[in-house]
Amino acid sequence: MTAAFPPLREELRGIEPYGAPQLDVPVQLNVNENPYGPSPEAAADIAQAVGAAAATLNRYPDREFTELREGLAAYLNTSGGSGITADMVWAANGSNEVMLQLLQAFGGPGRCALSFAPTYSMYPEYARDAMTEWVTGHRAEDFSLDLDAARALVLERRPSVVLLPSPNNPTGTALPPEAVSMLCEAAASYDPGGVVVVDEAYGEFRRSGTPSALELLPVHRNLVVSRTMSKAFALAGARLGYLAADPAICDAIRVVRLPYHLSAVTQATARAALRHAPELLGKVDDLRAERDRTVDWLREQGLEVADSDANFALFGRFADRHAVWQGLLDRGVLIRETGPEGWLRVSIGTADEMAAFRQALLATMETEQVIGRVMEERA
Ligand code: PMP
Repeated sequence: MTAAFPPLREELRGIEPYGAPQLDVPVQLNVNENPYGPSPEAAADIAQAVGAAAATLNRYPDREFTELREGLAAYLNTSGGSGITADMVWAANGSNEVMLQLLQAFGGPGRCALSFAPTYSMYPEYARDAMTEWVTGHRAEDFSLDLDAARALVLERRPSVVLLPSPNNPTGTALPPEAVSMLCEAAASYDPGGVVVVDEAYGEFRRSGTPSALELLPVHRNLVVSRTMSKAFALAGARLGYLAADPAICDAIRVVRLPYHLSAVTQATARAALRHAPELLGKVDDLRAERDRTVDWLREQGLEVADSDANFALFGRFADRHAVWQGLLDRGVLIRETGPEGWLRVSIGTADEMAAFRQALLATMETEQVIGRVMEERA
């Protein structure tokens, strides 16, 4: 008998690594990045900060990244939060790493983590990597949460981590504060209880009138609000995600983090970026307006579109979504084939990129006659 090589964990055999195709096409609307890069001034300041850090790279960085935590706390207090202090902030290399650390600290064998599908496809991977059972509830037809059913599932399965993206990826759906409060209370009602992570990766794009879960931090001790610099902050390449929570939660994560996990270069970059926050976030309003225009336009074409509080829109339904995705790609526009069968997701780009998207979609729908097929499916 020959042993399988390499001797991978049984449950990882044959699994493809997560990740959208990275293709070199003119219009890239597939991973919800901010299409506007940093200004020359911001880029120069970041370069200077990194240059200064370079002179001390023989030393390990500040393991507690104190200055960065202070900067992030100050930013959160201008972005829906109040009274957030540095000891209530934690950061890592992208919010993916923040959430993996949460699963490592609060999940584990004999425990489970829960979310509601369709949702971000990395969540079950964090659970798997932290040897945590994964439980999936389901969203309603319009992708909202049925609060009674959600609460009942939490009480039945007693998860130690509940992951609630708001706005949700790939649907764009934000959660009302009542939902967050109800699930925090449910997760605090059993022993030892669960933490409720509201993943606000796209929080800055929420429509006016949609509150941030940061407002609920003073009320629920088991609430964690996760954010990232990858989206609104236009800094996906820097890899900086962070959270706000009770200091005891931040302290607990310190047990599982690797020592010096945030490099001196990352810390310098993020601190410089925070100094330029208003400017880096300066295109958020334009992107929100472009999103609303895109949603309206897609609906005018007779397509279904999920309401979006994020920088992307989920639209469909196509009998053959892959053909539509391919048709767009053939015309130089890369979007994402994700979400429930029949739907596609487009990230919001610049006005020119969205014009290219509209043109490519119209041309694809004509040649593929997908509209006809969608109608047939609906009939
Ligand atoms: N949460 C959600 C809902 C996301 O869509 C993403 C990225 N696509 C992330 C978290 C992770 O982003 P990052 O690691 O770049 O912060």
